Amino acid sequence: MSKKIEVGVLGATGSVGQQFLRLLKDHPFFTVQEIAASERSAGKRYREVVNRISESDLPDGVADMIIQDAEGTCNSQVLFSGLDSSVAGEVEAQHAAAGHIIISNSKNHRWDQYVPLLIPEVNHDHLALIRQQPYGKGCIVTNPNCSTIGVVMALKPLYDAFGINALSITTLQAISGAGYPGLSASDIMDNVVPHIDGEEEKLESEPRKILGTVSELGIIPSDLKISAQVHRVPVSDGHTAAVQVAFADTPTPDEILEKWQQFTSRPQVLHLPSAPVRPITYFTGAAHPQPLLHRLTENGMGICTGRLRECPIFGYKFTVLSHNTIRGAAGGAILCAELMKEDGWI
Ligand code: NAP
Repeated sequence: MSKKIEVGVLGATGSVGQQFLRLLKDHPFFTVQEIAASERSAGKRYREVVNRISESDLPDGVADMIIQDAEGTCNSQVLFSGLDSSVAGEVEAQHAAAGHIIISNSKNHRWDQYVPLLIPEVNHDHLALIRQQPYGKGCIVTNPNCSTIGVVMALKPLYDAFGINALSITTLQAISGAGYPGLSASDIMDNVVPHIDGEEEKLESEPRKILGTVSELGIIPSDLKISAQVHRVPVSDGHTAAVQVAFADTPTPDEILEKWQQFTSRPQVLHLPSAPVRPITYFTGAAHPQPLLHRLTENGMGICTGRLRECPIFGYKFTVLSHNTIRGAAGGAILCAELMKEDGWI
């Protein structure tokens, strides 16, 4: 068996960082060598700082690891980042320039000219951009926004088969999407908050880069028109999206269901450890999918769709559900790293 690749987790104490560590326990390719967070946490043992993950869910030895300052020197070849966006931009660029491979969940580098905004099932060819990055042996790859990932996965086989002219997306997003500790209980209990800073802009722009094509000058974005509305709701994990689609070539409902059912891509061909066997599952229940019932489909890496029906304005509408800290963050980033390893980038 080949030696495991040493990885570090930046932002290891946050919602996404904890999910990284849980998913990296006994990982067949990667072993956690270092963890880092802010200077508030640096110098302390992980177990002293983090109280939302059970020690039995952590990789061996991590509970007693000393947290490093994320701005300091790192040793691991691969650094997964769940850093707060107030610092991620500078800190990730600094580590990439020092020769590390950064796989980030933060928004800061998503629009850099040669940085892939990667969903392994959707745009694995965008990894070719890395060659033009200015970081020498290092590089930065980013995960899209957590709601964007679920919606774009559900759309990808339909976009390829039928073309899409316009999209409306209305999200109902979980509390964990706001990080830890996130919103106060009195703000979110018994409530719906119809605003998440910057989120509508991400949903309206990121799918265009992800579905775009690679060129010498970076990605030529798709000309898809998108309108998004977002809401924070009192759900612990799992983002729901109500999607309306205007297709270029209108399919039948059966053709849409067939495309979802048949959809597989490179992660499935390569049998990557975190790849869902079935990337998209259509739930036939009249009131499905639901976060409480379905967010852990395919270990939280599957995209759930349901309620496909005609829309009098757009043509079709349906529901998409995905796990925001697994497929939408840590699990998605680990899948990116698995793909990069198998395709020779790591
Ligand atoms: P979070 O719970 O607030 O965690 C933020 C992490 O960043 C913590 O480890 C924190 O360390 C660290 N940090 C904060 N300020 C720092 C500083 N000045 N220097 C170094 N480290 C610092 O946030 P999260 O929800 O995990 O999100 C992390 C990133 O992923 C964000 O950019 C977010 O937008 C993105 N994201 C989140 C989700 C989600 O569903 N939550 C999904 C996709 C993407 P301390 O504990 O020491 O303060």
